[in-house]
Amino acid sequence: MANAPGRSFRKGLTVIEIMDMFPTEESARKWFEDLIWADGRHCPHCGCTETTECNKEKKHPMPYRCNGCKQYFSAKLGTVMEDSRLPYRKWVLAIYLHMTSLKGVSSMKLHRDIGVTQKTAWFMLQRIREAFKRDDDDNDPMGGPVEVDETYMGGKRKNMSNARRKEAEGRGPVDMTAVVGVKDRESNRVNAKVVQSTDKATLQGFIIDNAASDAKVYTDEAGAYSGMPFDHETVCHSACEYVREMAHTNGIESFWAVLKRAHKGVFHKFSVKHLQRYVTDFAGRHNVRDADTLDQMGCIVGGMVGKRLTCKTLIAQNGLPSGARK
Ligand SMILES: [Zn+2]
Repeated sequence: MANAPGRSFRKGLTVIEIMDMFPTEESARKWFEDLIWADGRHCPHCGCTETTECNKEKKHPMPYRCNGCKQYFSAKLGTVMEDSRLPYRKWVLAIYLHMTSLKGVSSMKLHRDIGVTQKTAWFMLQRIREAFKRDDDDNDPMGGPVEVDETYMGGKRKNMSNARRKEAEGRGPVDMTAVVGVKDRESNRVNAKVVQSTDKATLQGFIIDNAASDAKVYTDEAGAYSGMPFDHETVCHSACEYVREMAHTNGIESFWAVLKRAHKGVFHKFSVKHLQRYVTDFAGRHNVRDADTLDQMGCIVGGMVGKRLTCKTLIAQNGLPSGARK
């Protein structure tokens, strides 16, 4: 895969290379196990580290048994893949395809590419998208300068309850869902959140949750941003000072552009119910875009495991446990 200009340090991975890396189900299982049990294999039921590999001849669906609680387990247990009987190789390929398509892969394409039903492909993708999810209070404050902006995504007016329609009146397009996002110019990190309202309390609360208290904040002139407890500068979209030196929100707006192109071109629509998952996934993938493909894939696996192995740790360690990169 050709590297994008200016990112020559990023190591891509071709389809041929990925197939060579995972010639067998066993090799894919080993890759997942090395990532999920980076600190050593342990029982997901009781945490015990005294475990035994089962006799392969017996073909037990769970390859390990705990010497403590005597229960069987696999690396999938306690992850988003827990109840999946799909081979690890299909998971590897799904994660690869998801990470290497800028706008994401549709369930229809995944269904054709790896030979599962479209429904299965859809569930796999939703689980993969869960990987970048984190709690609000888990955010590392961004040092800034940060750009904050809100946008509106799909949804049809007829699907909106009367109460919501009324609530949304006078605040942006009534038939759409608002998303607020922040981008740190220093680290290029993005975080975005689906919000029920774009009022002052919601938007400023989001900024307080994400930006360090001394961060410089750039927004447009929306009234909801006025009177913030930050060093705050606005950019006026309507006037000709569209891009006034540092006072612009182009960074976060280009993130919206990718999200919107994916919405239109790949997914046709995100249902509001799942919108946060898509938004989180796009932000997460944006945040690891300079990492090698294999490290990005490792981030996804780490995120599938209840955050025991975070992306940050993976990248800080330059990725993967020895043996995983063959
Ligand atoms: Zn146990």
